[in-house]
Amino acid sequence: MKVTEHIKNAQGKTLFSFEIVPPVKGQNIQNLYDNIDPLMEFKPPFIDVTTSREEFVYVEKGAGLLERKVTRMRPGTVGICASLKHKYNVDTVPHLLCGGFTKEETEYVLIDCHYLGLDNVMALRGDSMKHESYFKPVEGGNKYASDLVSQIQNLNRGQYLHEKIDSEFPADFCIGVAGYPEKHLEAPSMSTDLQRLKEKVDAGADYVVTQMFFDNQKYFEFVKAAREIGINVPILPGIKPIAVNRHLNILPQVFRIDLPEPLINEVEKCKDNKQVRQVGVEWAIEQSKELIAAGVPVVHYYSMGKSSNIKAIAKEVF
Ligand code: FAD
Repeated sequence: MKVTEHIKNAQGKTLFSFEIVPPVKGQNIQNLYDNIDPLMEFKPPFIDVTTSREEFVYVEKGAGLLERKVTRMRPGTVGICASLKHKYNVDTVPHLLCGGFTKEETEYVLIDCHYLGLDNVMALRGDSMKHESYFKPVEGGNKYASDLVSQIQNLNRGQYLHEKIDSEFPADFCIGVAGYPEKHLEAPSMSTDLQRLKEKVDAGADYVVTQMFFDNQKYFEFVKAAREIGINVPILPGIKPIAVNRHLNILPQVFRIDLPEPLINEVEKCKDNKQVRQVGVEWAIEQSKELIAAGVPVVHYYSMGKSSNIKAIAKEVF
């Protein structure tokens, strides 16, 4: 079922959902199931599965020489989505990226998604590779998430990339896109970034999931500004509990988000990461309660491979 249908069917009740990351190449999927099992009692109608873009590895070429090769460290997104769907009878949302994929490859992935009965996809651009100063699509790839949304919508209308097929494409994907309450790091201003978000929605995105934020006011202002420029699709808040002390530095650096002073102060008082985790959980509980009271359609949690803190939050909130 589509994410938007789940929201509609909930009739104003806030839903619980979360995002997981595929295991590192070579690891067993059982670890993932072990992490998901404790969260299923909170009845998530859908689970997101991220996609990683390429990274470099060095491969021995002989005579002590190393060759730089592109690889994906966490492959398997669509396979994991199919396996979770069947194991837990839950809808799953594979993340699709512009970066690293040609449009043809994307079309094949979408055909796989259809065969596997996946009704939703999340359309993202992806970040630049570590050695790049700015994002570059592969030759023949989509440049912006809005281009990817257009490609998916074209396919929804039966328009394949090259072939003219008589019958229509039999799927009708529901499309999620990313939104940034504190603006995307590359965007010159908040209003420009919001216009870009509107382009994604105008291209056919059905709902928005936000980047993590730690101050609900930023989310409320973002939603208000989005509504003012005619973005009328559901905007799902993304919540990540702080889990370790170094998140104080890493999260603002990687995601260009602000952490509220009271949260920083509480984390700095902690003697170890066990205490930090508790502070993170309590902060996320307060955020979640306020968001639910404000009537958000879904609270979407970034699990980053660890479910125990998400469970601790969900127990208090759902
Ligand atoms: P876009 O919407 O394409 O925007 C990227 C930048 O380009 C923005 O600054 C925007 O303002 C600008 N822009 C957009 N259109 C135009 C235009 N026409 N002209 C000029 N500028 C334009 N990353 C992963 O690698 N894997 C994941 O699974 C993943 N999941 C995510 C899930 C969520 C909910 C979120 C919020 C992010 C996720 N990301 C993921 C990170 C995401 O890929 C990065 O934030 C990326 O840098 C931007 O992706 P986007 O889809 O927002 O890009």
